[in-house]
Amino acid sequence: MAELRSLGNTGLKLSSVGFGASPLGSVFGPVSDEEAIATVREAFRLGINFFDTSPYYGGTLSEKVLGKALKAVGVPRNEYIVSTKCGRYKEGFDFSAERVTKSIDESLERLQMDYVDILQCHDIEFGSLDQIVNETIPALQKLKEAGKIRFIGITGLPLGIFSYVLDRVPPGTVDVILSYCHYSINDTTLEDLIPYLKSKGVGVISASPLAMGLLTESGPPEWHPASPKLKAACQTAAAFCKKKGKDISKLALQYSLCNKDISTILVGMKSVEQVRLNVAAATELAKGEKDEQTLAEVEEILKPVKNQTWPSGIQQV
Ligand code: NAD
Repeated sequence: MAELRSLGNTGLKLSSVGFGASPLGSVFGPVSDEEAIATVREAFRLGINFFDTSPYYGGTLSEKVLGKALKAVGVPRNEYIVSTKCGRYKEGFDFSAERVTKSIDESLERLQMDYVDILQCHDIEFGSLDQIVNETIPALQKLKEAGKIRFIGITGLPLGIFSYVLDRVPPGTVDVILSYCHYSINDTTLEDLIPYLKSKGVGVISASPLAMGLLTESGPPEWHPASPKLKAACQTAAAFCKKKGKDISKLALQYSLCNKDISTILVGMKSVEQVRLNVAAATELAKGEKDEQTLAEVEEILKPVKNQTWPSGIQQV
């Protein structure tokens, strides 16, 4: 079973392994409704209580399929936590108050819910950060007052965006941040930001422990933005693990789970098998079973590319 961890000052307790629902939007290959329902059912059975989606994933398909699966499984609404996002759509970015206010109603309809637990401004480095501070977040506060959302979050890749916004909004306005690809074996730069986030009482969600497929045997999808050097180093590490009879994805997820200042690690999952593998990795870790030797060897292989990232968005922060 996945353990529960507190999320900042929200009072929410999230499973340490969170369910990334972007694959339910068929972005990593097609997923049938039956597979989606079985995957979500297995997630609940193994103690996962946190599901993350966005209107952007699969051009709204992820929200629709997640909503259908949650309804089919039939767990009471107050027993699980759902986050979705606003401001990023198949058609492009729009963080205006008008668009995000309309967006939540559309999301709630697709998810077949009355409220979401967390609404996050999605990939804010692609918009104006001052608009996020002055217009988007105040609009989300109104949604909070209306009971459509319980907590407010911001997401994105460059870590500087988080302090830019948090330094400019009243304390307690932004409840959580979602960072991705900055806390896995090849990149741990999120670590430096954690004391600051803790001092602000902001909850930390970290996504993409497999670095969006870099730390998997099958490798990243075609669209992955990493440099050829980073991709090659990760593939060398994956091949090394395979030769040793080890699973690099398990090693990578366990690595991310070890930092308990991070409330939940969001992994993209699209099959019962992946749910089982990922929860088993967490369970083994909780029992103290960790392959330090292979981890040290993989860290050595990845040393030349450690903390290498890629450009994202239009903001220089
Ligand atoms: P990830 O690092 O979790 O990798 C996902 C890929 O690995 C998928 O192809 C998945 O099928 C596969 N996978 C999952 N478990 C596996 C296992 N045990 N062995 C081998 N392969 C496995 O990256 P991700 O899906 O990009 O991120 C996870 C979630 O985090 C997303 O679904 C989304 O909810 C969230 N996220 C949010 C943002 C944002 O807000 N900007 C960015 C990235 C991710």
